[in-house]
Amino acid sequence: MFDCHLHSELSFDSKMLPEEACIKAIDIGLKGIGFTDHYEYFKIATGENEPFDFGKLNTFIKYLREKYSKRIIVLKGVEVDIQPHTIDITKAVCLKNDFDYIIGSIHVIDGMDPYHQDYYEGISKYEAYRKYLEKVYYMITHFDELDIVGHIDYITRYPHYDDRTLRYNDHISILDAILEYVAKNNKGLELNTKSYFPFPGRNIISPDISIYKRFKELGGEIVCLGSDAHRCDAVGYRFPEFAESLSNAGFKYAAYFENKQVKYYKL
Ligand SMILES: [Zn+2]
Ligand SMILES: [Zn+2]
Repeated sequence: MFDCHLHSELSFDSKMLPEEACIKAIDIGLKGIGFTDHYEYFKIATGENEPFDFGKLNTFIKYLREKYSKRIIVLKGVEVDIQPHTIDITKAVCLKNDFDYIIGSIHVIDGMDPYHQDYYEGISKYEAYRKYLEKVYYMITHFDELDIVGHIDYITRYPHYDDRTLRYNDHISILDAILEYVAKNNKGLELNTKSYFPFPGRNIISPDISIYKRFKELGGEIVCLGSDAHRCDAVGYRFPEFAESLSNAGFKYAAYFENKQVKYYKL
C-alpha cells in the first residue's frame, strides 16, 4: 500500500524527520510514501507560518530516493489549503514545482478554523458540516490543479458532538455534487485515516463507507489511502482495515500519483 499523505518537519505542525517516516513505512511493509507538507498561503501572507522551504523538500526527497530506491517509492507531493483568495498564488506555486501530486484541502471556512469551537456555536451540526462541504465543492470547481481531494471528513475531527460522523444520508445533494465532479474529472478521493484516530475527549467514529460506495457508483475510480501522519507511529495508521473498507465499497484498486499520473495497486 501507499501512504499518500504525510507531514515532515517542513510542516509547521510536525516534527517528524523524513527519514524516520521512510524507515517506519518500510518496516510496516508499505510500497510507497508521499510527503505532503502544508502550503498554506494565508498563513505565510500573515507571517503566521514560515515560507515553505522548497529547497529543503527537494534535498530530502532526492536523498531518500537514492538511499531507499530498492525498498520504497518516495513521492513528492504537497497539501495546499484552498480559500478563494489563495487560489491564484497556490496555482502558481503548483505550476512552478514538479510535484508528483497535489492534495487540495479545506482547513478554514469563511475565515474560521473548525479546530476552534466558536465555529460550531449557534449553528446546527447539519449547518456546520454543510458549510464545510460547500467549500469543498468550491475548491474542486475552482482549483483544477489538485489531484486528490484531501480528507473529505475533516469537519468531523474537532467538534464535541456525541456523534461526529459525516453521513452520506445527511448531505446527499452536496456530496453527490462533489463526488460526481471528482469522478468525472478523474481526481482522487482520499480516505484519510487520521480522522479515525482517537482524539482526546472525543468518541471514536468510523467513516461512512456509503460515501465511497456512492463515489464508485458515480464512476469514481481513484481512491487513495493517507494517514496524514505528523508522527512516526501514525504512518500507515489502520491501513489494512481501511483498505478492506474500500474493497467493501466496491474498489479493487487503490491509487497514488507519480509525476501527475495516476497509478493503481491491488487492494
Ligand atoms: Zn489537512
Ligand atoms: Zn495533512
